[in-house]
Amino acid sequence: MKDKIALITGASRGIGRGIAAVFANNGCSVAFTYNNNKEMADSLEKELAVYNIKTKSYKIDVSKFDDTQKLVEDVLKDFGSLDILVNNAGITKDNLLLRMNEEDFNNVIDVNLKSVFNMTKASQKVFLKNRSGSIINISSVVGVKGNAGQSNYAASKSGIIGFSKSIALELGSRNIRCNVIAPGFIQTEMTSKLPEEVIKKWETAIPLKRGGTPLDIGNSCVFLASDLSSYITGQVLHVDGGMLT
Ligand code: NAD
Repeated sequence: MKDKIALITGASRGIGRGIAAVFANNGCSVAFTYNNNKEMADSLEKELAVYNIKTKSYKIDVSKFDDTQKLVEDVLKDFGSLDILVNNAGITKDNLLLRMNEEDFNNVIDVNLKSVFNMTKASQKVFLKNRSGSIINISSVVGVKGNAGQSNYAASKSGIIGFSKSIALELGSRNIRCNVIAPGFIQTEMTSKLPEEVIKKWETAIPLKRGGTPLDIGNSCVFLASDLSSYITGQVLHVDGGMLT
């Protein structure tokens, strides 16, 4: 990871923040995006600078195509190149289908899935030029098994898997790898919205008997981003404490 340059979306908090910290700790420079919270982004920049790597934050809505293309241009100007892309930004707008409106369906698809198209399309130019690159897309256990009340989210996360396998096939001959991480239940602000009894139920059902942490996901990302996984592409790595077993 040393001297590599990574771009991570939605890293000001939660899983993205954990990935950024683990990358920096392994000597990787980190460009990262945030949506709204500049204070959190500034605090992460300070936290990462301790590792003596280059870091910079960019405010962007990853569902906007033109903005993502400009983002990658800006990162190239600031960092000189790009080796690793982690598409992490995501949202939930849960409801049973009966009550789910069109806007909430479209919004989740745009932020969770279209963003992955936007960012991968923008980044592939530099990966093709370098004849090297690692793309890691954050899906979910819900994208593999579905979940009542999350049809929009599950569709977006399944879509990420199909997209990633296709990109792995398209870009493999240029030494560009594309893999997916499917986290299970990870303790972040996203899951803190869930009722206590739902959290308890999830945790009891996990063979390792605990929720995951952003660092658990960060460590798996280092594996898929680095040469440790140089012969792995088009795969879904389940980081879920055995939830799907
Ligand atoms: P989180 O809500 O704490 O963080 C999500 C991040 O995405 C935030 O930094 C937010 O600002 C950013 N974001 C949201 N909308 C955006 C937009 N339009 N443009 C740019 N950035 C935007 O959630 P988290 O738990 O850290 O989740 C991170 C990723 O992991 C998501 O893709 C989520 O679906 C996935 N995931 C989470 C869990 C879990 O249990 N927490 C499980 C499986 C998958």
